[in-house]
Amino acid sequence: MRVLAPNYTPLDITLSHGEGAWVTDIHGDRYLDCLAGYSAVNFGHANPRLVAAAQEQVGTLTLVSRAFNHELLVPYAEALTSLTGTETMLPMNTGAEAVETAIKAARKWGYLVKHIPDDRANIVVAANSFHGRTTTIISFSTDEKARDHYGPYTPGFTIVPYDDAAAVAAAMTEYTVAILIEPIQGEAGVVIPTPDYLPRLRAIADEWGALLIVDEIQAGLGRTGWTLDQQRIGVKADLTTLGKALGGGIMPVSAVVGLHDVLSLMTPGTHGSTFGGNPLAARIGLEVVSMLETGEYQQRARDLEGYFGERLDELAADGLVNATRHVGLWAGVDANPRLGLTGRQICEGLQARGVLAKDTHGSTIRLAPPLVIERDELALAMDALADTLHAAHRELAVVTVA
Ligand SMILES: *Cc1c(COP(=O)(O)O)cnc(C)c1O
Repeated sequence: MRVLAPNYTPLDITLSHGEGAWVTDIHGDRYLDCLAGYSAVNFGHANPRLVAAAQEQVGTLTLVSRAFNHELLVPYAEALTSLTGTETMLPMNTGAEAVETAIKAARKWGYLVKHIPDDRANIVVAANSFHGRTTTIISFSTDEKARDHYGPYTPGFTIVPYDDAAAVAAAMTEYTVAILIEPIQGEAGVVIPTPDYLPRLRAIADEWGALLIVDEIQAGLGRTGWTLDQQRIGVKADLTTLGKALGGGIMPVSAVVGLHDVLSLMTPGTHGSTFGGNPLAARIGLEVVSMLETGEYQQRARDLEGYFGERLDELAADGLVNATRHVGLWAGVDANPRLGLTGRQICEGLQARGVLAKDTHGSTIRLAPPLVIERDELALAMDALADTLHAAHRELAVVTVA
């Protein structure tokens, strides 16, 4: 197909509508969505509250640019900072823009407050991270596919292994302005660090007078059973990036929330976005915040966590998968390589059984259904996964016997 750049290889399916945890294709076949737009659709497809809020706002006021104020922006900032227990927010659109904003704010803070010599600011990041696709962000990616042929790369980042606090400590210098980390590595396959990792990074940042930036774009807003995953660990970041579910699955809405002393350095003319904080985004963001305020969605993720884990453990006990990692309604599953299935083939097997999911690397797949999923629907998804893997296992037995 010449009209579309080939930067994705989607499953062979064309969707036309969605409701809750379900999507329907152009032939009328229904599928349980276990990707949820990489957690952008945490509240389900066509969530009635979000749709009503967006529809009302579309006919009222959608964009004024930051050249003028609009009546929803300050209430939205108040609501989001209150929900996250932070001081200040800076609205952007995509996740990558929020990460770029945090990087710029941290560097500026380093020069103006820490008095680091010009152009020497450094940020410590983790290998196998995913923070977005801009030229600066891919400059510190360790994924060759994401990085190759896009140089020259932005300097100023030191990459250390993930879940290795000692490596972070060793990488710190007087020019380090920040440690930038995912609390759980989503794209890497839902890699959950040891419980003392984030607390140790907090202590290292404090010891060196550097900022701790936690990227909650995928982990945050209910996915792990908490408003912010850092709350599950009991750590408070200086800056937190939010995105994906903040837009309710309707439009890109992102933000950096955190210390006023840092974000207040983003003065007029020094940073901005035409669409950041627009009335439609603010209206949707406000609705997302009010839905999270009740704790209902976080509770759903926590309530299903045990059952999810049991079903994943069964797959491991049956030798179908090697490792499973899960928290809340989020799991990474590594298929047993002996089954000879790629992650892609597993996803095709799931699709044939009415479930949509996405592979990450090799034979790892990620499961992240909308938080509105019911237990019997989750059971359906787990049955489909078990069935897909069992089928490959039976074929393997046939081959072995022959
Ligand atoms: C998806 C993601 C991003 C990038 O968000 P976009 O909206 O695609 O730019 C950044 N960080 C993390 C952890 C993500 O999962």
